[in-house]
Amino acid sequence: MIALGKSGSRAATESWKLESFAPAEGWERWLEGKVGRKGYQTFRVRLLVQAAFAVTCVLLGAQFARFVTAAREGAVPLPHRPAGVEGFLPISGLLGLVDWVRNGSLNPVHPAATMILLVVLGLSLLLRKSFCSWICPVGFLSEALARLGRGIFGRNFRIWRALDVPLRGLKYFLLFFFVWAILGMTPAALRAFIESPYNTIADVKTGMFFVELGSLGAAVLLGLSLLSVLYKGFWCRYLCPYGALLGLFSWLSPAHVRRDPVSCIDCGLCDRVCMARLPVSRKINVLSPECTGCLDCVAVCPIRDALGVHVGRRRWEARQYAAAVLALFLAGYLGARVFGLWENRIGDAEYVEHLRQDAVQPYGHPGR
Ligand code: SF4
Ligand code: SF4
Repeated sequence: MIALGKSGSRAATESWKLESFAPAEGWERWLEGKVGRKGYQTFRVRLLVQAAFAVTCVLLGAQFARFVTAAREGAVPLPHRPAGVEGFLPISGLLGLVDWVRNGSLNPVHPAATMILLVVLGLSLLLRKSFCSWICPVGFLSEALARLGRGIFGRNFRIWRALDVPLRGLKYFLLFFFVWAILGMTPAALRAFIESPYNTIADVKTGMFFVELGSLGAAVLLGLSLLSVLYKGFWCRYLCPYGALLGLFSWLSPAHVRRDPVSCIDCGLCDRVCMARLPVSRKINVLSPECTGCLDCVAVCPIRDALGVHVGRRRWEARQYAAAVLALFLAGYLGARVFGLWENRIGDAEYVEHLRQDAVQPYGHPGR
């Protein structure tokens, strides 16, 4: 391999590039291709993985809607309830995790919520906040809205730096609030909350919030969507406490983007494309908790070996990183199923009764 410094000749640079990009062929080349305009490019493989998870979420939602409709009609036996919808109950997941640590047993109400949280925390420990940029459907939607913004305005805007820094702290503040509230509960109060009727049908209530959206909820969602059109990743960057938690775990991860200052030609493309607005071109190792491991900076870099993802001391290809993210997530899911830590223990008759009661007088948040 030719070691090319910033003072290297243009001819040497060109031949180095050709040599570096030569190996990818056929479908691999297509898969590792880039999507989007220069400055906003994304790995095609990441886009495909995100889209696959988004479609899975839509299918889970459709099956869950069938389940809720049948439960409301009292049509026992009910259709299968897809436990994967509990991925949308991160607070129940955190409650379950703290309860599990304190009481030694996984709660039977929303075990999948806790298992998904555990798997995603493990993923963050090993492969940074890759859940945010490869799996999370909200992240996918947020990026799609940013693409729409670029289509309309030709670019995404950036919030003034003096405002950006305190706004970024908001998600850590929200995370602190949830953790403080949960850790402040006694073990008995925590278990009582988990087994309360309110938490038992938290999945149905969350779904119905979106189906029966009131004017306030619609205004908030519309506002967040508009801000995401203008500012890339607005929700993830400023408000998502889940992403904040994963970011803190990712600090311990052996995976990180690494820049080789000898090969780097200081073009700055990595800085422009980074969704976390990190100064990649001025770092050797990108260790920030804001880095989602999206690898868009690696995709856009014109010099193959200048930027790469490293796990420990080894450099990985993007497709290896993608395969590892998928494999770890699926292994966690299958492990939870095999060990009976996935499906809840709530019977059909209990669901029907809870939904009947909730329709007469909606269950309120315990403790209020
Ligand atoms: S540093 Fe690279 S991998 Fe990390 S968020 Fe920015 S573009 Fe993505
Ligand atoms: S994209 Fe970043 S790492 Fe790659 S050559 Fe340009 S400045 Fe250097």
